[in-house]
Amino acid sequence: MSKSSATPYFQTMSPVPPEPTPSQAPPSLATATREAGPTSTTPSSFPKVKLRLELRDLSHKSTDLFLKNFNSAKDFADLVEIVEKQLYTCTNHEDASTRLPVPSHTKIPGTRSVTLILRDMDGVAYTTGTDIDNDHKEIHLSLSYLNHVASQKAGYSARTEILGVVCHELVHCFQWNARGTCNGGLIEGIADWVRLNAGFIPPHWKKEAGKSWDTGYQNTGYFLDWIEKTRGTGSVYMINQALYHKKYDNDTFWKDLFDQSVDSLWKEYGESLKKPKDESESFGDPNLKMQIRIKKEVEGS
Ligand SMILES: [Zn+2]
Repeated sequence: MSKSSATPYFQTMSPVPPEPTPSQAPPSLATATREAGPTSTTPSSFPKVKLRLELRDLSHKSTDLFLKNFNSAKDFADLVEIVEKQLYTCTNHEDASTRLPVPSHTKIPGTRSVTLILRDMDGVAYTTGTDIDNDHKEIHLSLSYLNHVASQKAGYSARTEILGVVCHELVHCFQWNARGTCNGGLIEGIADWVRLNAGFIPPHWKKEAGKSWDTGYQNTGYFLDWIEKTRGTGSVYMINQALYHKKYDNDTFWKDLFDQSVDSLWKEYGESLKKPKDESESFGDPNLKMQIRIKKEVEGS
């Protein structure tokens, strides 16, 4: 998860999730073919994922706080849909409030269930596959951390923080990770990029270009957002798709996608932050190049 280095957030890095693998379950299950072929579905028809909630300590005062701020049925399902749309569709430029259908060659992990487990533990949260089957995910959320959340700053609610943390962890349930070889900072950055775009933004987040692009969390998340805005809508979609099966190679990964090294992109990002806000926020025509790439992908060329 995220937050400043002085908080428990960084003490428990969310582990990079193992790559979701095709299910060993009988193919009669509704989602068993999810990853088997091209997905030409609309965003609203993503295969259903079984969602579960496990409350391990009903006597803990944070359990009550959680239940008062999280509508377990609706919020959980809504967050899954937000994550799937952010990762596997692109914004429709003719109507920015909607998203385009999933490109036909999109690879989507075969995640079949997510269990949200509230328990007393150190840190904030982490995501893991279950022992039996990696298509079944568990998100462990700390009751002690939720206790701390109760005293959030004015204007930022416990509900927003809970939604943000669960949103971040859900990304780990649905993103690709280059068969476990992906840079951990990129994995965490994609998770916070989705959280950023979902609007669950903690008050301490800010755009910074420190010494490295891959410090993860919101630092890399804002960097990805800059890439999305300057290199075109769908850039993060392409990054996630490129992490589907090939091993991650820092030297070739970014050049293949953007004709530029990540260090060069990071430097440019840093320069953009130094400019007056109006200038740094106006990205000209950002979308054309990536739209061409996505079109090629859709057409299979
Ligand atoms: Zn994480």
